[in-house]
Amino acid sequence: MIALRQEIFELHLRHTFRLARGASDWRRNLGVELEHEGIVGLGEAAPIARYDQDAESAAAAVARMVPRLGDPRAFATATDAVAVQGQPAARAAVDMALRDLAGKRLGAPLHELMGIDPHATPVTSFTIGMDDPDTVVRKVREAGDYEVLKVKVGSEEDRAVLEAVRDTTDRPLRVDANEGWSLDDALSRLEWLEKMGVELVEQPLPADQIEQTRELRRRSPLPLFADESVHDATDIPGLAEAFDGINIKLMKCGGIGEALRMIAVARAHGMKIMLGCMIESSLAITAAALLSPLVDHADLDGHLLVTDDPFVGATVEAGRLVLPEGPGLGVRRRISPSYSR
Ligand code: MG
Repeated sequence: MIALRQEIFELHLRHTFRLARGASDWRRNLGVELEHEGIVGLGEAAPIARYDQDAESAAAAVARMVPRLGDPRAFATATDAVAVQGQPAARAAVDMALRDLAGKRLGAPLHELMGIDPHATPVTSFTIGMDDPDTVVRKVREAGDYEVLKVKVGSEEDRAVLEAVRDTTDRPLRVDANEGWSLDDALSRLEWLEKMGVELVEQPLPADQIEQTRELRRRSPLPLFADESVHDATDIPGLAEAFDGINIKLMKCGGIGEALRMIAVARAHGMKIMLGCMIESSLAITAAALLSPLVDHADLDGHLLVTDDPFVGATVEAGRLVLPEGPGLGVRRRISPSYSR
């Protein structure tokens, strides 16, 4: 019998987060505790509004999944049969909590159970949200420790913003267009970005424009990475000619188990892999950081963008991800919970 406790918590952002699709100052995520034989595993869902998910729908999905779980020790496949359609963040929270539980039961860190070298973590990029050029320059100065910056674009001021960033730093830049361009304007933007020393571009065209992205990639001077176009492993074969790489997010794909399948399928297609995140606490970021030694690029800064992270887990030192010690995920609470059953 697995006992479930859930709590919705707010994460407040240091800076208003602007994307091509809108702006916000805070997020509501879901904390999940699964208790089995006196051991508690922790999980987190960061629901994605673009796909009509919120904390309440994620909580309802978790409440449907957990009573139908089999033996929690069989975490590799435990969520396959009980996942709720359209709620991958909820599934990610359950998958994460089951793995944390298993590690704690055995007294071993998850990276050890999974054979992952904790010292092989990559640097993480740090995201600079859309803003006016002056504010962007201030944010770049604040991002002193990070070796790679990811700049969100898609506004009228893109060129002014990028030029202002380039005048401030010579660090490598990645650009995320968040589906904001069209095939007609994308090529000239890519050529200009290449001159600006940008190393890759994420999701230039709308998610369903795969044919157009394939055409763009044939002429693109920069590698293109899929984000909104890729959800789980089944999407990857159809994207192999349109993109050079994929951005895996636990909240899009449904957790560590599916992320491992995606890594295998992307490698089989010769694609590069980035690990990304939503606005998440240190709990979900630690679950993603655990997989970072298996990929090429990390963009795991969601916990660095908030002021009231309730958990302590993976940190960033000199720009590099550092996994916590301790069994399971190794995450502990910063603030005591107010859970309801
Ligand atoms: Mg993205």
